[in-house]
Amino acid sequence: MRNDLVKFGVIGGSGVYGIHGARVVAEHQIETAFGAPSDKVFELQPDAGNGDRFYFVPRHGIGHRLLPSEINYRANILALKQMGVTHVLSVSAVGILADGIHPGDLVIPDQFFDRTKGVRESTFFGGGVVGHVSFGTPFCPVFSGITAKVAAAQGTVHVGGTYVCMEGPQFSTKAESIFYREQLKATVVGMTGLPEAKLAREAGLHYAMLALATDYDCWNESEGEVSAAAVVAVVRSNVAKANRVILDLAANVSAQPHRAAPPHPCSCASATSHAVMTDPSHISASARERLRGIIS
Ligand SMILES: [Zn+2]
Repeated sequence: MRNDLVKFGVIGGSGVYGIHGARVVAEHQIETAFGAPSDKVFELQPDAGNGDRFYFVPRHGIGHRLLPSEINYRANILALKQMGVTHVLSVSAVGILADGIHPGDLVIPDQFFDRTKGVRESTFFGGGVVGHVSFGTPFCPVFSGITAKVAAAQGTVHVGGTYVCMEGPQFSTKAESIFYREQLKATVVGMTGLPEAKLAREAGLHYAMLALATDYDCWNESEGEVSAAAVVAVVRSNVAKANRVILDLAANVSAQPHRAAPPHPCSCASATSHAVMTDPSHISASARERLRGIIS
């Protein structure tokens, strides 16, 4: 049975600028209280089957114009929220850190390690409103599980593991890469998972990541120099897999008993219910307006 409370959205990373097998039925130019998203929000209808309409934002903008540190993560999340999206799939190309993962594999991380440098706006709070949401479980476990199940049809999937979010835009040094791998025991490294996931949590969205393993970062000397042609082939194949996962999720996600069965399987949607520390009488009307949809 379809759950009408569920709306699916995708934030596409490197190489994912549109969805093959779905047609654009509307383009939404949205301005949020925190500025404009990376591009228009595309409303898509799958060509085949009876999948629901879903929403798509290209994280770096069409044409790949924005550095990881230039992306307006707040606007991307809020724009999807304003479209009514409840479940956000983050599609992200990553470097491999852990043994046993190969280029072309899919990874569904369950933890983050933040190595960004603080130049990214990473909260909707501030400006007179103090709020702290829990982030011990940074990805929605239920939606991640659904994504893992769907992704398994497309090849090797590694479920769980830590995503290191580095600042970029330069790739890691060898010392950093070895540190992430051997000291942090991290699984993959990317540049855009944070603060996106933090903001999704503050916005009460169910957020999961489909990480596309592209290369070995720079720790794996036995791989030698990777040719550009090989990387392009991996990226192309990964993007095709991600595209199929997105279409399968569009067809399936609203049919999942995500919000129905008690006890409530995750607490993403109520993340901000006890988050605000500021005395309500001290929250201005303009702050309330800015945080509409984030705080009640
Ligand atoms: Zn959730």
